[in-house]
Amino acid sequence: MFKEDTIAAIATPSGYGGVSIIRISGSEAFDVTDKIFKMKNKTIHDVNKNTINYGHIIDPKTNEVVDEVLVSKMCAPHSFTAEDVIEINCHGGMSVTSRVLALVLENGARLAEAGEFTKRAFLNGRIDLVQAEAISDLIMAKTNSFAKSAMNSLKGDLSEKIDEIKADITNMLARLEVTIQYPEYDEEDLTDNEIVDLIEKMSFKLKKIISTFEKGEILKEGIKVAIIGKPNVGKSQLLNALINENKAIVTDEAGTTRDIVDEVVNIKGVPVKFIDTAGIRNADNKVEQIGIDKSISMLEDSNIILFCIDSSRALDSEDIEIIKMLPENKDIIVVLNKMDLDVNNETINAFENYKTIEISALKQEGIEKIEKAIYDIAKVNDNDEVGEILVSNVRHKNLLLGAKEDFDHAIEMVHSGLEVDLVEIDINAALSKLGEITGETTSEDIIDEIFKNFCLGK
Ligand code: GDP
Repeated sequence: MFKEDTIAAIATPSGYGGVSIIRISGSEAFDVTDKIFKMKNKTIHDVNKNTINYGHIIDPKTNEVVDEVLVSKMCAPHSFTAEDVIEINCHGGMSVTSRVLALVLENGARLAEAGEFTKRAFLNGRIDLVQAEAISDLIMAKTNSFAKSAMNSLKGDLSEKIDEIKADITNMLARLEVTIQYPEYDEEDLTDNEIVDLIEKMSFKLKKIISTFEKGEILKEGIKVAIIGKPNVGKSQLLNALINENKAIVTDEAGTTRDIVDEVVNIKGVPVKFIDTAGIRNADNKVEQIGIDKSISMLEDSNIILFCIDSSRALDSEDIEIIKMLPENKDIIVVLNKMDLDVNNETINAFENYKTIEISALKQEGIEKIEKAIYDIAKVNDNDEVGEILVSNVRHKNLLLGAKEDFDHAIEMVHSGLEVDLVEIDINAALSKLGEITGETTSEDIIDEIFKNFCLGK
């Protein structure tokens, strides 16, 4: 069991509210509480575990009554952190809450760092790293579907799948070891075909998990839609029409300026995030290459590209330039805008081989066809039953892809007739990467980094 000092923090958001909760965790949690919490005829040490207790917070220096509170007592290891935990339910609001916290800190606890409670739950072995990260995801979830998927990860569904592959690897390594160490026991030996077969089976399981990432990311961050096109084709008009019809579900993300493109809009239950492709508009100026590179990477970053065209005009070189840089692996919808004007048939015919939608952004006609197209591509909505596991964390995805590469490389090694111990190196590398996901082989720096991004009091 990991042992350290006793920590405390306000676990509820700051501001005015009916109740605030101050959480204390560590071996001194009950002693600290005892000094400032007075009950009739008993102390927090006397009461049973898992009880809620009525009393008063007192400043021990002056005996002043600070607040009337309810105090929950949870004993190690049956608590969030697997340590002794106290939660003080005091009255909400800045003044009382910070006063109670100050008393807790004056009487033996230290202020917790961001994510430190969850980190202790992890270090004490109550949850693995995937579950710890799922807690953060659950708190930050913008849609019901993503909250459900985070809850599945918190329950351990994703960890279970990864542990299954880890167990397969360990089994295989044991058999490889016999093959290497005791070549005389022929009947125990793994043949090259058997090795490839085992690796392919594990690789297949990995691929299945990796393939959930796109949907997971859409649920977490929203499906990313880039609206591109040369100046004056009606991109802003279209964006406004899409945003006005659908209420924004997130307007203010910490650390970002408030900007229309930072808003996540709810289109039929699908969280949609619009990507700013301002760079495209400058594509033909002198800093051309930088502008184009930036735009291309933004297009690469999107799930759907709405390519906006002024259908009342002939196509020109600027339109052609944009057509040339459309990535092939994305869902591209050509939005033929300004259909309320006289249309240029040549322009319309030029997109015969594309998925097109005819609209008038100005008259707000056809907008629902774009919404339906986005919805159909996302294939998720907020009432979706998220039964299966979903990978939505880029850290997990990269490690899974890395493990998959190790498997591929191992197979190549076998095919090229190399020694089995070289294959073993790749398989071990894959095992280590999977262990990094769940936390066994994760470096301290990365663990610190992960928990630093948690909110205070969590
Ligand atoms: P952007 O530069 O691509 O963002 O284009 P804007 O959205 O600023 O629109 C450029 C001009 O085209 C504005 O004067 C709009 O009012 C006009 N416009 C946009 N959409 C339509 C449309 O569907 N029909 C008509 N007739 N004009 C439009």
